[in-house]
Amino acid sequence: MASIRLTLTDEQRALKAGVADICKRYPGEYWRELDAKREYPEAFVNELTKAGYLAALIPHEYGGAGLGVTEGSLILETIHENGGNAAACHAQMYIMGTLLRHGSEAQKRTYLPKIATGELRLQAFGVTEPDAGSDTTKLKTTAVRSGDRYVVNGRKMFISRVLQSDLMLLLARTTPVDQVKRRTEGLSVFLVDIRDLKGFEVRPLRMMMNHSTNALFFDDVEIPADSLIGHEGKGFSYILDGMNAERILVASESLGDGRWFVEKAVQYSGHRVIFGKAIGANQGVQFPIAKSHTAVEAATLMRDKAAALFDAGEACGAEANMAKYLAAEAAWEAGNACIDCHGGYGYAEEFDIERKFRECRLYKTAPINNNLVLAYVGEHVLGMPRSY
Ligand SMILES: Cc1cc2nc3c(=O)[nH]c(=O)nc-3n(C[C@H](O)[C@H](O)[C@H](O)COP(=O)(O)OP(=O)(O)OC[C@H]3O[C@@H](n4cnc5c(N)ncnc54)[C@H](O)[C@@H]3O)c2cc1C
Repeated sequence: MASIRLTLTDEQRALKAGVADICKRYPGEYWRELDAKREYPEAFVNELTKAGYLAALIPHEYGGAGLGVTEGSLILETIHENGGNAAACHAQMYIMGTLLRHGSEAQKRTYLPKIATGELRLQAFGVTEPDAGSDTTKLKTTAVRSGDRYVVNGRKMFISRVLQSDLMLLLARTTPVDQVKRRTEGLSVFLVDIRDLKGFEVRPLRMMMNHSTNALFFDDVEIPADSLIGHEGKGFSYILDGMNAERILVASESLGDGRWFVEKAVQYSGHRVIFGKAIGANQGVQFPIAKSHTAVEAATLMRDKAAALFDAGEACGAEANMAKYLAAEAAWEAGNACIDCHGGYGYAEEFDIERKFRECRLYKTAPINNNLVLAYVGEHVLGMPRSY
């Protein structure tokens, strides 16, 4: 039965210390410069890969560290606590689950060892579409079998890290929606090698934060039939499996952001003297920071519970969703408290707060917006009527 520890093990402390050591070599200036140019943190991701951290969830037999989502969470949380942004590489951890759980032995042997060494990058996850949005079952991209190939046509929106990745996990409809009993059927998942793919166009989008996000266009793109993961038509359920890991890992990034904001706010408000005393002595400044710390700590417990359930192979949909919600809201509130206590300096780029503020905002919207998390809790946890 799953249980959660209230303190980290020695191994987990060492794991966090190792990640923090790397982060120290990539200070605020590094992230700030890339943010201004909207460039990918190539050097940071390469170092993290070489040190094996991005292969944390790959089993030993395929060259990875064989760790769980609990440890993956600690890695991502540590990057954010130290002012970095793991969004550049987090997808590799949660995409892995679909390949691990549903991929064939041949697919795992072909790809996992190369992903573990960094020879191949699996950082792109193509689900969202312009017309479907949160309603994934309405996606219109099709993959039609033709001999030993599938022919893909359609569009995807907001797909990140495509230009920095060799492989993409793609969700497409293989059976038209009017030929399936339930809308969740007839969708399939493909592990696509996107290097030199004919008919495939990637248009980068300049977003609010540095996120390497794109619009994708598929025009009669041919992919080998053996790119299919698992069974045709079962893709939606495979993706759902991976989404719990994604929510837990993304929650961990928010927790790291929340801690970074709180620490920065505590330090600054303890030293900034206005009206003859440190501003942190005023309850109007202190309480929002204390409240943020409290929310981050509470969200951490939910994240730990979700990760423990996930690693024990137990149902964790409710906990993974609630962890993502609580952590994203806690980070956002901590960001506000941090900006408020810094006054005008909170808006100055050199303080990194405005960058972190923009970065942390994303997790209220993606990978699933917080309204839909509440809809999930209302319907699936509390048994209330479906709201959508
Ligand atoms: C920077 C960035 C990177 C991304 N990277 C990826 C990626 O790599 N791969 C990928 O597949 N996707 C990615 N996404 C897409 C992201 O997952 C979607 O933006 C998100 O799922 C919401 O879809 P949408 O933007 O179409 O919003 P919509 O579904 O159109 O929703 C718009 C708003 O309406 C509200 N809403 C909708 N339906 C309901 C309802 N029933 N009840 C209450 N409120 C509702 C929500 O609050 C939502 O905020 C990324 C997005 C961003 C911004």
